Amino acid sequence: MVDLRRVHQLNKNQIHQQGSIIYWMSRDQRVHNNWALIYAQELALARKSSLSVIFSFDTKFQYANLRNIDFMLHGIQETFNELQKLNISATLLFGNPIDTVTHYVTKNTAGVLVTDFSPLKIGRGWRNDIAQSINIPMVEVDAHNIVPVWVTSSKQEYGAYTIRPKIKKLLPEFLTQYPDVIRHPFNIAPTTNTFEYEDILTRHTIDRSVTTVKGVDPGEKAARNALREFIKQKLANYDADRNDPSRKGQSNIAPYLHFGHISSQEIANEVKRSNVEPSLQEGYLEELIVRKELSDNFCFYNSNYDSTDGFPDWAKQTLQEHESDKRPYLYTIDDLESANTHDQLWNAAQKEMTMTGKMHGYMRMYWGKKILEWTINAQEAVEYAIYLNDKYELDGRDPNGYAGIAWSMGGVHDRPWNKRPIFGNIRYMNDNGAKRKFDVNAYIETIKKL
Ligand SMILES: Cc1cc2nc3c(=O)[nH]c(=O)nc-3n(C[C@H](O)[C@H](O)[C@H](O)COP(=O)(O)OP(=O)(O)OC[C@H]3O[C@@H](n4cnc5c(N)ncnc54)[C@H](O)[C@@H]3O)c2cc1C
Repeated sequence: MVDLRRVHQLNKNQIHQQGSIIYWMSRDQRVHNNWALIYAQELALARKSSLSVIFSFDTKFQYANLRNIDFMLHGIQETFNELQKLNISATLLFGNPIDTVTHYVTKNTAGVLVTDFSPLKIGRGWRNDIAQSINIPMVEVDAHNIVPVWVTSSKQEYGAYTIRPKIKKLLPEFLTQYPDVIRHPFNIAPTTNTFEYEDILTRHTIDRSVTTVKGVDPGEKAARNALREFIKQKLANYDADRNDPSRKGQSNIAPYLHFGHISSQEIANEVKRSNVEPSLQEGYLEELIVRKELSDNFCFYNSNYDSTDGFPDWAKQTLQEHESDKRPYLYTIDDLESANTHDQLWNAAQKEMTMTGKMHGYMRMYWGKKILEWTINAQEAVEYAIYLNDKYELDGRDPNGYAGIAWSMGGVHDRPWNKRPIFGNIRYMNDNGAKRKFDVNAYIETIKKL
């Protein structure tokens, strides 16, 4: 059974016992271990009604490009095939979800519309507009966080140190095993709208300037394989290796988490079940649970997560005081996008992102800090970083990205450090720090060979 603290009704429409259950899948694009689908099926079984899943594909979505569309559509194709095996209808809709989902729900005399949860403004706007346009109940289910974001805390948390005890206290109640989605008994003639991937790409205008990447297969099965490999090969050394870009010690699971091809709850359960020493699991679980859920908390409670207005007061003040400090270098967005700066380490990180769709975690911190140093002010720095991150990273357009950028440029989830030019009290990073941590030249050479 789904813990009802995970479920949240988005409008005031009364629940009545007629009509099918529709799950509008959005952030959590998977069949198994998905609380939103599990809840939708629980409702359908209780009412003996049919269950269908819809997905709305909007090519006009900002930053929709071949790289992320290819990854997403292949994942959706696998999801639809799996739903078909479970006797659950699946339909792909084309256009803005506010129009497509509203129209579909109205036309199909649904009883309840279920959806998953996103803390981002665009996703919340869609959900609220749809909830107000339909005359049936619409509920959202937090299928992305282990502890639902509104249960963990009722306010924006200061940092990992304040959210950690709250999450840890609730984990025994929420870090449970998932029930299976069963073959649905009440769909008389389920329809799966199988789609031709190539046909979609030719019928819609898609930005092809950002190409697909090799070596990261999309979908639920690929996500599970990546997890299995990580646990077997790298988990035990994660803490020692994760900050060394030349070692490739990270799990590379973020694109799967972003598209919802796998849940952090499944990952945490698998990590805990592994035969890796619990003390060696801790570092990974801290990132996967505490840091990741802190990002959702930030975006959920701070609607300025994508601008300097979302920074803490001390950070706004110190950046303001240092806004007129002379910058050693000033770069345009074109210089940055084409990795055309004086700094070979930064250029390598930027190229890693544009070419592979995933910059190493340590380099993301350095990358963000340098953009702050090389632009006229923090607002411009935030805008440039979000533009690049969301356009090129497979895991971009994600709360972790907005929180990461706000951390590196605006002291979010951090504390004041010693004063320096440009940065004021914002934590500083330079290439000497990187050189102490890892073989910078080896990293630059690896990227050159890409
Ligand atoms: C400037 C900047 C931009 C970033 N942009 C993104 C982004 O667009 N999307 C994104 O998912 N992450 C982003 N991060 C956070 C972090 O760098 C990535 O989550 C991580 O590098 C992804 O690689 P991985 O899955 O191999 O991580 P691993 O190190 O294997 O960690 C496993 C998981 O833990 C979570 N995690 C790890 N580090 C962090 C962190 N610092 N904050 C929150 N969660 C974390 C992620 O979900 C990650 O997939 C950004 C960080 C910074 C400083």
